Amino acid sequence: MQGCSDAPLSKRLEDKVALITGGASGIGEATARLFLRHGAKVVIADIQDNLGHSLCQNLNSGNNISYVHCDVTNDNDVQIAVKAAVSRHGKLDILFSNAGIGGNSDSSIIALDPADLKRVFEVNVFGAFYAAKHAAEIMIPRKIGSIVFTSSAVSVTHPGSPHPYTASKYAVVGLMKNLCVELGKHGIRVNCISPYAVATPLLTRGMGMEKEMVEELFAEAGNLKGVVLKEEDLAEAALFLASDESKYVSGVNLVVDGGYSVNNTASAEVALGKFS
Ligand code: NAD
Repeated sequence: MQGCSDAPLSKRLEDKVALITGGASGIGEATARLFLRHGAKVVIADIQDNLGHSLCQNLNSGNNISYVHCDVTNDNDVQIAVKAAVSRHGKLDILFSNAGIGGNSDSSIIALDPADLKRVFEVNVFGAFYAAKHAAEIMIPRKIGSIVFTSSAVSVTHPGSPHPYTASKYAVVGLMKNLCVELGKHGIRVNCISPYAVATPLLTRGMGMEKEMVEELFAEAGNLKGVVLKEEDLAEAALFLASDESKYVSGVNLVVDGGYSVNNTASAEVALGKFS
């Protein structure tokens, strides 16, 4: 059984091995940096080879961080990435299945492009399945492990994202809950984080706007005023779920949205407007 950690709070992942898909950019990159600072050995799996390699070089942490090319839509690639983590470090304690794409930004069902729907599901859903499958294979015999997926706040509210993206992120929550039950008997915890908007390349590229402008826009639309959600905030949430501090937390969709999904002001205002 996973015991309570005696590691000081400053090194919450000492001796743990983590695989992070989509770790070359945005939330995955911030998480790789934070996990490394907390003593983990990190393997980044991504398709942006130059970014992944230069991140490892910049962090200059020797054997503690490495990059492997891995297209998560390819079951074989994912298996190779998991094997790389195990052969480099002897085990796998943490899977952060985070790679994802936004897809086309057209949000009308009438304009649905089947190729876009397929691609979004291949990366966001199939990728999560493959990562969980190969990580579980390694974790089950050791009877220990933490799997964390990145879903989205769109899994609990409607901020107007395209249908394929929203549906894919619901699927991730469904997978997480099913796995929590299947893998619980093997001592493996499964959770996900669901971010509100963060101005990563996924958003800035999709919206064709500068980072600062995207941050301003979503801070304005957010519920928690005066705070900008950053990649590092999601990394902290992933760290909690990956570390032994959450040793009895499983099956949770940790929504990091500053209360956005709780605040129903827009519809309340419309409804109340009818009576005024
Ligand atoms: P990002 O674009 O900065 O990072 C995504 C990473 O995934 C990139 O490095 C990209 O190369 C990688 N990737 C894409 N397709 C891949 C594939 N086929 N195989 C391997 N890697 C692949 O964006 P981000 O915002 O950091 O996204 C991380 C996760 O967060 C995604 O799952 C996204 O859906 C989710 N998310 C983001 C936001 C947001 O506002 N940025 C909000 C909610 C959820």
